[in-house]
Amino acid sequence: MPTKRVYLETMGCQMNVLDSELVIGQLCALGYKPTDDYHTADLVLINTCSVRHRAEEKAYSRLTAIARAKTERPNMIIGVIGCMVERDHEGIRQRCPYVDLLCGPGNLNEIPALLATVEETRVQAIALEHDHSRRLPSAERTLLYNSIEELDMSRRTPPDGRTLQAYVRVQRGCDKFCSFCVVPFTRGPERNRPPANIVIEARRLVDMGAKEITLLGQTINSYAYTDSSTGRTVRLADLLEQVHEIEGLQRLRFVTSYPGDFTDDILQAMRDLPKVCEYLHLPAQSGSNAVLKRMRRRYTAEQYTELIARARETVPGISLAGDFIVGFCGETDAEHAETLALIERVGYKNIYMFKYSPRPATVADRSLPDDVPEAVKKRRHLDLVEYQKRSGLAHHQGFIGRTVEILVEGFSKAAIKAQEAEQERNNHVSWKRGDQLVGRTRTDEIVVFTGPKSMIGQLVTVWITAATALTLHGEADQTSAPATVVD
Ligand code: SF4
Repeated sequence: MPTKRVYLETMGCQMNVLDSELVIGQLCALGYKPTDDYHTADLVLINTCSVRHRAEEKAYSRLTAIARAKTERPNMIIGVIGCMVERDHEGIRQRCPYVDLLCGPGNLNEIPALLATVEETRVQAIALEHDHSRRLPSAERTLLYNSIEELDMSRRTPPDGRTLQAYVRVQRGCDKFCSFCVVPFTRGPERNRPPANIVIEARRLVDMGAKEITLLGQTINSYAYTDSSTGRTVRLADLLEQVHEIEGLQRLRFVTSYPGDFTDDILQAMRDLPKVCEYLHLPAQSGSNAVLKRMRRRYTAEQYTELIARARETVPGISLAGDFIVGFCGETDAEHAETLALIERVGYKNIYMFKYSPRPATVADRSLPDDVPEAVKKRRHLDLVEYQKRSGLAHHQGFIGRTVEILVEGFSKAAIKAQEAEQERNNHVSWKRGDQLVGRTRTDEIVVFTGPKSMIGQLVTVWITAATALTLHGEADQTSAPATVVD
């Protein structure tokens, strides 16, 4: 029988990237081969995001394009997986009746059973966290993993062989119910994974070649797991210590933190454990206490800045990233100005900014009018973009003339493009394809530099010679490369 091909497209956050990796691993175990071209695929999956209206519309537009390909290949199975399914499977079924398979993020281990049902009956199959009605009982026999936890534990080398940086989930779902956020509805309540499983999974990834591990959770600083036999509770700081012990691991990160429950033991772990990178992603969402209250965030702007001060005091050289929503329900010019003031006060390395868009079923959607005009949202968004450009450049310029340690991730695509254009303009051929490598510092700056390809996967020292708002540029210190390096 010819090998079946699967095409999987991922939208949204790191959690989805990890879910997609697990789904692909599961499908490879079933005999599928990944492809980059959905036109040739037997199974096409879209792993969706519901955090913003735009992300959902993008998924619908991809599904429309894929449906056209299905007219050429009628046996193609189209599946939608991830948050959108849990939030609005009925909407997907109505808008896209050609979708064969729907699976929420908490049921991804059931994909083999859903596929068996579709193949056997050509009837749409669905798996949601609290509803298992559209699946053949006989299809259960095709399950490779009986639970989502077992699926998490099934990590294997990804088909593209990339194991250098790996994600490990420590937590599912969220209990915070911020008034704008759909995550508690799509990923359910907070559930923390057993630390022993997390350490086994991380060790396995390091054995497969991972140098850097990022622990993932929606509010990762609230991680707590109590062992029922010993009564001992493992918190995030303890977990960092346990993963840190893994021999061969070089760097350890964790995202995303919630400013309300952030305890000092985590900062102390960041200071005391050399593999833990000095980088903290701490979404503030707003600098106005009135807006934070409407958002149902459980901290004030003052508490947030106090936490930042403690982080800076405890972890020397810490780099900070933040998320902000502009144009939230009722946000006035004065409240927006408070956000800008907080941003200036904190001095982030990086901010991620979003225009508010109401999400169905959330408290804000049900009880607060989305009354900030789109033009005002755009202007406020631009204010943050301007800040990012200005501060990003200033932050990066501070590195010029210094050396940094980077983990080399691969060839720089942007540098290859720019060099090709330059070559075309100047018609000279001195530049060799692949000379330009890219990597990241411990504090998450992107560095493009010249170096031999044997540096990929290594920690190397780079001397920074130039900077833009987005990137650092430099030259590798050849003495920091591994002894076997030859160009
Ligand atoms: S903390 Fe708030 S914003 Fe973050 S996932 Fe939970 S509900 Fe959403």
